Amino acid sequence: MLSNYGYEDGSGSYYITIDTDKCCECEDKPCLDACPHEILQMELDDYDDEVVCVREEARNRLRQICAACKSHDRMESGDYVIPCMAVCPEGAMKHSW
Ligand code: SF4
Ligand code: SF4
Repeated sequence: MLSNYGYEDGSGSYYITIDTDKCCECEDKPCLDACPHEILQMELDDYDDEVVCVREEARNRLRQICAACKSHDRMESGDYVIPCMAVCPEGAMKHSW
């Protein structure tokens, strides 16, 4: 299942999408430790599988919280090196901005 966390405002849409089917298969869940702001957390889905989600209190502030991860000094070959996505072995996480 694709779970979306975030918001839209006049400047754009700011969503993190997580493919929880892939999280179930990911034992180490390295994204949890990779996020410098600790906005990712583990939860149990409806089938009692361990999946990752964005903390409730961070969901409407993603642009601000994630800004440092998307700064120009994190660019390599024209792409941002975003910690949570870089460590994900499954390609389970996407950002809309
Ligand atoms: S690293 Fe990727 S697959 Fe593993 S828990 Fe995090 S988002 Fe899910
Ligand atoms: S972009 Fe940075 S702050 Fe935002 S979820 Fe990923 S690692 Fe955490």
